[in-house]
Amino acid sequence: MTDSRSPEQVEDNERLKLQPDELQPDGQAAGPKRVLIVEDDSGFAASMRYLLVQAGYLAEIAQTGHAGLEKLAETQKSLSAQPAFDLVLMDIKLPDISGHEVIRIARERGFVMPVIVVSGDSEIDVAILALRLGAMDFVRKPIEPEILLYAIRRALAQSNLEREHQSAQQRINRSERLHRFLVDASPDIIFILDQNGRVSYVNERLHGLLGLDESAVVGRHFSRMVHGHDRERARYVFSAQKLSETALHSLELRLKSHSDAPGFRYFEVNLAAIGLPEGEADNDAGTRDHYYGVARDTTARREVEALANYQANHDALTGLPNRNLFRDHLALALIRAHRNNEQIAVLHLNLDRFKHINDMFGHAQADELLRQVGERIQRCLRGGDTLARFVGDEFLLLNSFIWSEQDVLQIVERINHEFKTPFKVSGKSAHLSVSAGIALYPEHGDTADALIRHANIALYHGRLSGSKGHSFFMSEMGESTDKRLQLQSELRQAIDQNEFVLFYQPQVGLQDRLIRGVEALIRWNHPQRGLLPPGDFLPLVEEANLISSLDEWVTRDVCKTLQEWIRQGIAPPRVAINISPRHLEEADFVEKFIALLAEYGIDPKLVEVELTENLFIRDPNMVSLKLQTLAAHGVMIAIDDFGTQYSSLSYLQKFPIHTLKIDKSFVWEIDREYRQHTIIKAIISIANGLDLNLVAEGVETDEQLRFLEIQGCDEIQGYLISKPLAREAMEIWLRQTAKDSIQSS
Ligand code: C2E
Ligand code: MG
Ligand code: MG
Repeated sequence: MTDSRSPEQVEDNERLKLQPDELQPDGQAAGPKRVLIVEDDSGFAASMRYLLVQAGYLAEIAQTGHAGLEKLAETQKSLSAQPAFDLVLMDIKLPDISGHEVIRIARERGFVMPVIVVSGDSEIDVAILALRLGAMDFVRKPIEPEILLYAIRRALAQSNLEREHQSAQQRINRSERLHRFLVDASPDIIFILDQNGRVSYVNERLHGLLGLDESAVVGRHFSRMVHGHDRERARYVFSAQKLSETALHSLELRLKSHSDAPGFRYFEVNLAAIGLPEGEADNDAGTRDHYYGVARDTTARREVEALANYQANHDALTGLPNRNLFRDHLALALIRAHRNNEQIAVLHLNLDRFKHINDMFGHAQADELLRQVGERIQRCLRGGDTLARFVGDEFLLLNSFIWSEQDVLQIVERINHEFKTPFKVSGKSAHLSVSAGIALYPEHGDTADALIRHANIALYHGRLSGSKGHSFFMSEMGESTDKRLQLQSELRQAIDQNEFVLFYQPQVGLQDRLIRGVEALIRWNHPQRGLLPPGDFLPLVEEANLISSLDEWVTRDVCKTLQEWIRQGIAPPRVAINISPRHLEEADFVEKFIALLAEYGIDPKLVEVELTENLFIRDPNMVSLKLQTLAAHGVMIAIDDFGTQYSSLSYLQKFPIHTLKIDKSFVWEIDREYRQHTIIKAIISIANGLDLNLVAEGVETDEQLRFLEIQGCDEIQGYLISKPLAREAMEIWLRQTAKDSIQSS
């Protein structure tokens, strides 16, 4: 027998890589395969059928083209859309229509089984036309049985493969449609980032929530979706994510919106690394690192939280701050008073005979009276004072910036005066008067709790002793000093046992948003009470005469950190250290300070000393000399909380000052009060005029930032950029900043 297969056929077989068992007549499992023979030469048709039956197939014969088509159609109908023939052997020269025509009509009618043309025609055109019309193979007469059988098996195997492939493809398409539906129907924005942070996929929710089209973000860096002021933080988390492959990172970010009035919405973004198998990575670089992110819109929750936060800090009846908020304000005021050697007064106010009035007027009207009381007392206050409703008919009042008991008495008097006009509710009038218990800082206590307690004790002592009006706290009224002594001894131990830690808060340039410096802020890691803010212990440290030891500890720790950053190759930022006036006044302060820097090999230019203004009223000559020496060594000098105290232009010119730090209170007044605007504008223009570096503290909102930017402030520090961070977190940020600046340069 001769092999009549063309070289192409041989190659095809190789490509199909048919295994020996696949070349066996298949269909053992699904029943024998059925073959239709369309052939007008009945002798030849019969011998083919014989051959096929021998080989295990079922075979039928049609002698004309139309008969063949009928057979295909009939059986197809009877077998409910299942093709009844698995294969057709087709002669080309038929008495009625040509084999080509039969193939064409069969295809038109949707019959998909493979067709092998068996023809005596040796014209190549005949073969090509047949193959074009969809025949799978061509076998020339006279046939070699083995070759015919081989062609049949090959065609069946291939059509089998195609069918399987088709149904797999359908399954994949269905599953993909399902997944896409699930992803697009998700209430969250779902996205994938490549290793460089570029968006490679984002679902349709992007449009619903932010009004952006997929095409606006795919292929671009994810930070372009992030609102400007959150960008650095977002990049920082992304790089932290790259360092710790498996961990999930979660952060709250504002994403830019095209459809929203403020131009952004709040999202909680979760980011996780996913390792895609090599072949599935579809980014240009063909790399495996991908990040899967889900962004959940939290704008509504934020609004609810803001309301809840307001409610948690305010009294529902009067709208005044409640006890919690009062305590916070007091704690802040204490820090300032302590630094500036100022006095503070806490007044516990109580309405006289209010129970009686309550009974007379009934609850609803008594409530209305309390509201009016709140309003009247508030009229007597100055900016910076805080009035809170404590409970029932009791109020708490905080007066900062007082110089003597007389200042407090004036306020009490003003309140009494306001109360002289009778209150009116529903046409009835009521005469009210108020009693006050007063505790002063530092005389009567140096913590918020002690002052509130002592004001309360003073009120009740006044009541008990029958004196109306007001009474100041006196130590005989109770309270031992045992507790304070115990705290002071704890403090000594804490310094010895290294219980303090430094946090670092970045100061960022307004022009390029890059870190210029960091401020070192101390925390006490108390073994029982956890991490304590400086306001809770600095006054005691000072009282126990330990402030210099603590400042020294801080300076040493900053030196160690700088040394370590330099060793690790991190470009060190300028570090600001807060130095208490009492420490600076010590005779050998400058020598010790410079010696410490030298001990660790720290360039003094990397260090900035933060001092407060009231330092200059004490002993200007001494201060001047010390600052000159510090500056001569290269140490930078900053004035902290600028604008809150003795702000004199003369010292700014006389002393070697590099930086002014605008106090938080001015920053927080932005947008609130026209007068403060002028103060802050004046400070900025003074600083610019004297060529000083200007840092705004406590920047919390975009409005504040925008204002400062327009006015020409140099740097900002505040929660908007970052809260104070533990050293390790600061380190990651610094490393990332260095990388970013290398990339962008
Ligand atoms: P400061 O030097 O004026 O430091 C800034 C204070 O403002 C820090 O409070 C900081 O956490 C807080 N702050 C920064 N940005 C914002 C903001 O956007 N919003 C709000 N609400 N606060 C913001 P912290 O860490 O509690 O320190 C309080 C004060 O304690 C410091 O005021 C400083 O006077 C003193 N202090 C901190 N560390 C040291 C230290 O190592 N030595 C000395 N002597 N005093 C220190
Ligand atoms: Mg400071
Ligand atoms: Mg400050």
